[in-house]
Amino acid sequence: MNKSSATFLLLLATLSSSCLAEDKDKPAATPEKTMSKPQVTLSDEEWKKRLTEEQYRVTRTAGTERPFGKIYEEFEKQGEGTYYCVCCGAELFTSKEKFHSGCGWPSFYDASTAKNVLERPDHSHGMIRVETLCKRCGAHLGHVFDGESVSAATPTKRRFCINGVALHYVPKGGEPPKLLELGSADVEKKKEAVAKEAGVPVSKP
Ligand SMILES: [Zn+2]
Repeated sequence: MNKSSATFLLLLATLSSSCLAEDKDKPAATPEKTMSKPQVTLSDEEWKKRLTEEQYRVTRTAGTERPFGKIYEEFEKQGEGTYYCVCCGAELFTSKEKFHSGCGWPSFYDASTAKNVLERPDHSHGMIRVETLCKRCGAHLGHVFDGESVSAATPTKRRFCINGVALHYVPKGGEPPKLLELGSADVEKKKEAVAKEAGVPVSKP
């Protein structure tokens, strides 16, 4: 290995530990333990059908995308617009709160006024961090860091370090994504309730 690639790897490792760590071995997030049950609950199989492999890995198993990837490059070029949850379509961030932190992942200094970003303590990998999740569906988004030098010039002095793959960008004036409604389990429950009310027997699969 030559010196410049070794330096690059070292830089990458430093950034990874300060921004987002590789969460490969972490079990799937279980948001219902610390947050009220997400409004949208799909089975793993259903999420897999709806999402790409990378979207599933990051959002449903608390994974981390590679820093300085293609999505990040696109993010840096994007103009005014809104960022929605790739899983359920909830509004999460807007270009107003976006700032350049140089950490290799999309950065915002605050969530959008829609307030769909939930924060909870994360003690994985021997670090004390605050994980950010979509309030509606429990998707893992990334982490939020307070009082760093890179966010010192922002109004909140916070850096929401977000996986770009968890976001669905819609340029200003564009059509927002359709909100994913009730999860299959809830739909089944509703069907049962309606059938019961109508006095019709429910056939169980
Ligand atoms: Zn969501």
